[in-house]
Amino acid sequence: MLSPQQALKQYFGYDSFRVGQDQIVEAALANRDALIIMPTGGGKSLCFQLPALLKSGLTLVISPLIALMQDQVAALELNGIGATFLNSSLSEVERQERIDRILAGTIKLLYVAPESLFNPNFLTFLDRVNAQIGISGVAVDEAHCVSEWGHDFRPDYRQLKQLRSRYPQVSIMALTATATERVRQDILTQLELRQPMIHIASFNRPNLYYEVIAKQGKQQSYAELLRQIQRNPGAGIIYCFSRKSVELIAESLQKDGIIAIPYHGGMNSKEREANQNRWIRDDARIMVATIAFGMGINKPDVRFVIHYDLPRNIEGYYQESGRAGRDDEPSHCALFLGYQDIERLKYLIEQKVDPQTGDRLEEEQRIAHQQLRQVVDYAEGTECRRTIQLRYFGETFTGNCGNCDNCRNPKPLQDWTVEAQKFLSCIARTNERFGMAYIIDVLRGAKKEKIQQYGHEKLSTYGIGKDKTADEWKILGRSMLHQGLLAQTTDGYGQLKLNDLSWEILRSKRVVNIAVPTKVQVDRSDSQDNSRRDTVEALFDQLRSLRKQIANQQSVAPYVIFSDSTLKLMAQQQPVTLEAFRQLSGVGDRKLTQYSEQFIAAIQSYQQDHPDSSKKSSSQNQSKTQLQTLELFEQGLNISEIAQQRELKPSTVWSHLAQSIELGHQLEITRIISPEHQEEIIKAIETVGAESLRNVFDHLQERHDYDRIRLVKALWFRSKQS
Ligand code: ADP
Ligand code: ZN
Repeated sequence: MLSPQQALKQYFGYDSFRVGQDQIVEAALANRDALIIMPTGGGKSLCFQLPALLKSGLTLVISPLIALMQDQVAALELNGIGATFLNSSLSEVERQERIDRILAGTIKLLYVAPESLFNPNFLTFLDRVNAQIGISGVAVDEAHCVSEWGHDFRPDYRQLKQLRSRYPQVSIMALTATATERVRQDILTQLELRQPMIHIASFNRPNLYYEVIAKQGKQQSYAELLRQIQRNPGAGIIYCFSRKSVELIAESLQKDGIIAIPYHGGMNSKEREANQNRWIRDDARIMVATIAFGMGINKPDVRFVIHYDLPRNIEGYYQESGRAGRDDEPSHCALFLGYQDIERLKYLIEQKVDPQTGDRLEEEQRIAHQQLRQVVDYAEGTECRRTIQLRYFGETFTGNCGNCDNCRNPKPLQDWTVEAQKFLSCIARTNERFGMAYIIDVLRGAKKEKIQQYGHEKLSTYGIGKDKTADEWKILGRSMLHQGLLAQTTDGYGQLKLNDLSWEILRSKRVVNIAVPTKVQVDRSDSQDNSRRDTVEALFDQLRSLRKQIANQQSVAPYVIFSDSTLKLMAQQQPVTLEAFRQLSGVGDRKLTQYSEQFIAAIQSYQQDHPDSSKKSSSQNQSKTQLQTLELFEQGLNISEIAQQRELKPSTVWSHLAQSIELGHQLEITRIISPEHQEEIIKAIETVGAESLRNVFDHLQERHDYDRIRLVKALWFRSKQS
């Protein structure tokens, strides 16, 4: 029998297990129950798929969504693993054909939805399977569906414990990405797990970049949205609050030449499914959706998730934004924070009534308000975004992640006590009866009818705040509310009220510090853009189109052929032999035979069209000038000496050295960059990815220049390849 490690490479093409996967596989092989809690993208599927392969008999996989089953089955088949699903969408002939294959023992994994499981015919069939070939295990995917405390309760999941009594010797593995303790407990009891192995992975997703962007007017926000989309190539999701804004944004983006399609509850299920498939198969790049979209969507190469409107709670935000970057590649999560959104959500919460009696649902409202406050705290917070999110899930994170806006551009604190006094005294003088917008109008001396009606243009605070923009005043007002230095009614009017702390400020007994967002950074262009990177990207694009072409022929989603990560490696390493191709992570035996020929041909034809693109060719491909630089360096000259002697700019000398390293030369780098600095730069590359030197440069807070970063990056690439 294959060892788990061998099976991992042979069937899935991976070289090593992710943290925890090996112990989970081991427990499953020992027939132990297990509860697996991993965030989205953590690699849960492999935990039951690999043992299913290695054990004799059939593993039953309970999965709530048909789309999800089809997807996983297609991916398994492409890896040469016998898998199928049974559900009501099949014709009688198809069904019989699958049943025959199962009873013949060629199927290792059978996917079913819980509602079809307890149909008497199906149970009889299972008994037969158990008697003839054996049931090797049960995997309950999306196990949080058993819990009423979860966000997706499905009563059918409650029936699952019948499997336990029917097949007591069969082990059960429950898997979920749920973050809350209550739901976890519920899974344990509802499924009656027996002394399970419990694996709870960290909910940190290091490859996701988190940022919050302040909404400033419709047009500016839309322009920022466009910038986000341009900056993040690849597939994305944009979440909007309402159907109307979904349609509006999708339409605007289409006008801007971006293939964006809508998804919301007002469309019929056919339209929704069609759009979902277009997006999954990369026929449409962007899905603009309400939060109804995404549950059970397995697309691993989502490069960005943008919340264009404020989410209702942190858990929801975490799960939705977490749909980005399942493949572990760097991905982007942006949340747009608009103060009107907060008011709108508050208003909606206040409208919650019991549909039967029409009474206010006070308890629910209270919880909803609290959840909203937590989201606002997250969005306005100046701490590491990860720290805030993970704290919400009871995890301690030390901060300084280097991969969120607050860590990369910490907002400096400024003393705004005088401004705060102006603001508060304006509230006092208008008798605490107005909302933020009105107070700001008075401060800025707006000529509005309402102000004149109240005679507020005669107040001493009228017009004393012209030196600040309305947005700056808003930042102050919000921040004071957030710090508890000011109160606001929650009746939908949002009247500002002074509290004890406000009075301390007015009496100059308390200072007010505000985290002021820094201006958007000017783009420092990476002038000596690495031509090698362009080459890799161009080849990557070609490999992507080939993948899409094959996917269309086979009617599957492109990512089940090869993941983006595998294509990227392909573009970087450009393997042209079967042996080299096989080495790529994500290439197992089946995919090697199935696809290597086509992809190798594509790489070769690319190399013919771009003779200097191949990294294989060593010195013959190296220019004379590079070799001269190299020679001098090897004679012991330092960079400035070489530059002087050759009458070159130092940065040219640096780039010659970097290119030499890429071509496989071993240089004594410690002469020019100390091991500590090398290590520091490599760490940065591993944190923010190697795609953008700019990101690495920023991450290092400009402590190292582009020349050094480029050189170390070349070293790093070499070390990954050897
Ligand atoms: P989850 O169900 O936890 O969201 P998946 O099972 O879909 O995650 O796995 C996410 C991605 O990670 C998939 O593309 C999967 O192929 C990949 N993956 C899983 N395990 C490994 C591994 N050991 N090495 C490399 N990639 C892996
Ligand atoms: Zn951070």
